[in-house]
Amino acid sequence: MVDEKIHKVVIIGSGPAACTAAIYTARAQLDPVMVKGFEEGGQLTTTPEVGNWPGAVGDPSGFDIMQNMIKHVNELGVEGIADVVVGADLKGEIKTLKLSGGQELKTRSVIIATGARARYLDIPSEAQFKGRGISACATCDGMFFRNKTVAVIGGGSVAFVEALFLANLCSKVYLIHRREGFRAEQVLVERVNEMVKTGKMELILNATVKEYVGEQLLNGIVIDVKGEERKIDLNGVFVAIGHTPATDVFKDQLELDKSGYIVTRKSESPVTSTSVPGVFAAGDCSFPEYHQAVVAAGQGCQAALDAEQYVLGIA
Ligand code: NAP
Repeated sequence: MVDEKIHKVVIIGSGPAACTAAIYTARAQLDPVMVKGFEEGGQLTTTPEVGNWPGAVGDPSGFDIMQNMIKHVNELGVEGIADVVVGADLKGEIKTLKLSGGQELKTRSVIIATGARARYLDIPSEAQFKGRGISACATCDGMFFRNKTVAVIGGGSVAFVEALFLANLCSKVYLIHRREGFRAEQVLVERVNEMVKTGKMELILNATVKEYVGEQLLNGIVIDVKGEERKIDLNGVFVAIGHTPATDVFKDQLELDKSGYIVTRKSESPVTSTSVPGVFAAGDCSFPEYHQAVVAAGQGCQAALDAEQYVLGIA
């Protein structure tokens, strides 16, 4: 179904960057359309508590923050489409986006805020147990492991937040990391160390997962700790080893870096410009350095202002 209307701006995504871009472009009378994906709200919806969103006193959940943001977007009358972009022709003045349901959108400008998705270890036995004991989201799946034994893989802030969340639900949480140093924020490291003292959590360092074991459901893992093999009986594994930008669909259209992030700042200004005029990028799909919701929201604002200038012909 081809939508003959030529929109001024289409925003792809529904996380903090996309919602902020929608709020700004709607208030600028650009009548934005949002292609929201199938899971509205993006990665932040899976964060159990957010302690660094300015003004959000009392550590609200990422889900609550995103619900408010989406409400704000809806109150501004932004048209939202629950679908994903599967094809794009971004060159030229009028850009075309193809959605999985067959709809085609034409637009003068595009703001890409597709975020990033969770990475897995990619070892042979992993696929078999995804959804049968292996997950990448403790907030989504943690409750299935109430009073059970689980492991979290990773040494970054996400792994630490997930491990702390699970320690309140599960009987035992192993935190398994491939080296001794952590990327996680110091405040989280301290909280984990406190939890280790209670015996509810165990840190296993210099360790890599060799194999997932089980029958229908996962019931253990084999790890290598400094060259020695160890088997751990458990019910669940939460993989928290970072994310991959959701940019595949644009790889033949835009310049991406070697990790797949959209290259921006193609000129001094505007900051969110990509290799194609009229296409702007914001948030975790384009800026890997910070990975913070507040940064993504700020970039959504920048992309909206950049797109506005472009559409009005001021750029
Ligand atoms: P991250 O900081 O990049 O950490 C990824 C972790 O996974 C690292 O410890 C890394 O190990 C490990 N890893 C990567 N590939 C692996 C593999 N193949 N096998 C085993 N381990 C592997 O990513 P993140 O934890 O997802 O956090 C993303 C961003 O969000 C960060 O900037 C973080 O600060 C931010 N964040 C902040 C908060 C907060 O409360 N403020 C909460 C969540 C996230 P190495 O260290 O050895 O590379």
